[in-house]
Amino acid sequence: MSDGTEKLVLPEDVQIEAKQITIYRGIGSNRGWEYDEGAARRSCANAQKCDRCGAIFKKYFGQMACPGCWQLTQKENHRKLPRQDWDGKGLIHSDFFDEYFRDWDDLFEKVFHDERITPETKFDDLMVRICMPQFPTVSSESILSDHATEDGDDLVNDYKAIDAAVENLNKVILASVSPVYYPSSTAANEPDGWKALLLEIESDRSGGKLNRIE
Ligand SMILES: [Zn+2]
Repeated sequence: MSDGTEKLVLPEDVQIEAKQITIYRGIGSNRGWEYDEGAARRSCANAQKCDRCGAIFKKYFGQMACPGCWQLTQKENHRKLPRQDWDGKGLIHSDFFDEYFRDWDDLFEKVFHDERITPETKFDDLMVRICMPQFPTVSSESILSDHATEDGDDLVNDYKAIDAAVENLNKVILASVSPVYYPSSTAANEPDGWKALLLEIESDRSGGKLNRIE
């Protein structure tokens, strides 16, 4: 919109400059990166140096640390979490096994049969987190978010009726669906029976060794 004082500029009168950009691309790759030589190199490499110990490792899941260091970092982060006793409701998740468990027996069974576990394994090494239930919910805002004219006219005639219906729908959902569980950022305290389980493992493993000697 012109107020009459604005100077009119035709395309041929625009002051122009040509700008060159550099695209980096690994030879043989079909993906290029503007200005970012490092990104082009990283995207074509299949190995990298570990951020933490400097070891060279094959790339996996976009991790910056080698598998050993990545697990160390995971354990360190786990140790910083607040912790509490698990009340046995819902599920627990072990980041070590990358698996959910319904109860301690379930987890102990897994521990007993896993050869990576030794009598020296600490409960914290399993990185067990308490899971939180999540239910689907709807909100009035999410239902109405696309229902407005461009100049902001209010097209809703009765917010109260919609809010009441949404509240009711959420109650029905809560009563009708089972929750999905996600690991929370609360670690589970060592449960009763952990030390006894390690003793069991110790006697089982040494029994195994004796058998092999015979
Ligand atoms: Zn490393």
